[in-house]
Amino acid sequence: MSLADRYAQLRGTDRVRERTLFVSPQVPSELELQARWFAGDFGNHFTSTAGDEIDVVQFGTWNREAGPDFREAAIRINGGDPIRGCIEIDLLDRSWETHGHATNPAFDETVLHVFVERGDREFFTRTKSNRNVPQVHIDPAVLPPAFSANLPLARPGRCQAPLKGLPEERVCSVLDAAAQFRLRQKAARIRHKIESRGRDEVLFQELAAALGYKENKLPFTLITQRLSLKSLREAASDIESILFGVAGFLHIADLDVYKKSTREYVRQLWDRWWPHRDALQRLILPGEIWSFSSTRPLNHPQRRLAALAMLARDWTHLQRASAKSNVGAAKQFFQTLNHPFWNFHYTLTSKAAPKKMALIGEARVADILANVFFPFWLAHDLDPSGSLAKNVWTEYAKLPAKLSNRRLETGATRLFGSDPRQKQFLKTVANQQGLLQIYEDFCMEDNSDCTQCPFPEQMKKWQ
Ligand code: SF4
Repeated sequence: MSLADRYAQLRGTDRVRERTLFVSPQVPSELELQARWFAGDFGNHFTSTAGDEIDVVQFGTWNREAGPDFREAAIRINGGDPIRGCIEIDLLDRSWETHGHATNPAFDETVLHVFVERGDREFFTRTKSNRNVPQVHIDPAVLPPAFSANLPLARPGRCQAPLKGLPEERVCSVLDAAAQFRLRQKAARIRHKIESRGRDEVLFQELAAALGYKENKLPFTLITQRLSLKSLREAASDIESILFGVAGFLHIADLDVYKKSTREYVRQLWDRWWPHRDALQRLILPGEIWSFSSTRPLNHPQRRLAALAMLARDWTHLQRASAKSNVGAAKQFFQTLNHPFWNFHYTLTSKAAPKKMALIGEARVADILANVFFPFWLAHDLDPSGSLAKNVWTEYAKLPAKLSNRRLETGATRLFGSDPRQKQFLKTVANQQGLLQIYEDFCMEDNSDCTQCPFPEQMKKWQ
């Protein structure tokens, strides 16, 4: 049985067992309150302000982005099925209204509002979609004296203890198995898409999604769905202008808003966009679909879009590089991408940078290799039994990890906690992808705060 098959068997196991775990974080004021809530110091059984019995079955993870304090939490109301969503904690009950949560779509998935101080008037918590959110009152006076620890992104899970006692090879073997399973799933998904849409169009769309990264994956995908590679290449010298036009980045008619050094470039974009504008008017994306706030300047969507234009323009070279199933050839292709404007600018309105910047940086290339090229290569080589081609896996397993993200950090905390080998376990892309798979299959499926999760027991049996 292949490693991927063994992992598939492991994730299919029924949930069993019971036990609890704990780590206590702390910081002052509202943050301390949240930390102690998260640590379970207030318990997990409450009565809501409306008289319902509320059980917190999963405290979730700390939210680092806009929105409620905790994500991926789960509660039960009156013993019903677990309801997954976010939890918001405020000092005052009315903060729900005064902080604007009621009209903020980022709070739409909130399943519980926790507060300390009750106001004089009766108060309802509603989301933007007009759903009532149960409220729970907590009393800090019941807490034992202060405690100390660092604020973790997530609590270590029940599997931390057994994993800590396992030899490194055994932990890596499980991570490999989960990574092989994940890669195989991606390859199968891509093969399926290729059957209906053709290899080039699918590759173009996948590359666009990777260039959009997390924040702008949707607009990038929409652009390549609305503008096929074939149609773009038919207007070869206008590719960049059409992409910028449909992205909605060329709507300002006044060139004076641009820096002097930029005006000539923008004018060229416009001149080539106008002849297409009427025909493509209905495909132009609305401005609000783009996210600019949480992206690093180097990753600004305008730079990424220019990179996508370069890929479409140099498609024949890209095809050659990607056909070789060779990491070196693929990297070489990305390194040779050059653009006289975007090698020196972050956005259309930024001033020129003193030093040349890669159009697609090393970390993004690593991500494209792991999430686009390798699954594509494997999509060709998957045998009917679904086994991975050995050479593809051997190369994949060598890819060094260049990026991290919130989900990975959360998964690492939950599975490895304070294990000093944590860094070692996540040195490669394959190990990171394996951890993500386990996190999604077990942690995100768990509604029992680890007590019913079968992963720790399965790990003990893994040979
Ligand atoms: S849910 Fe399972 S895999 Fe996740 S931390 Fe808890 S015991 Fe570990």
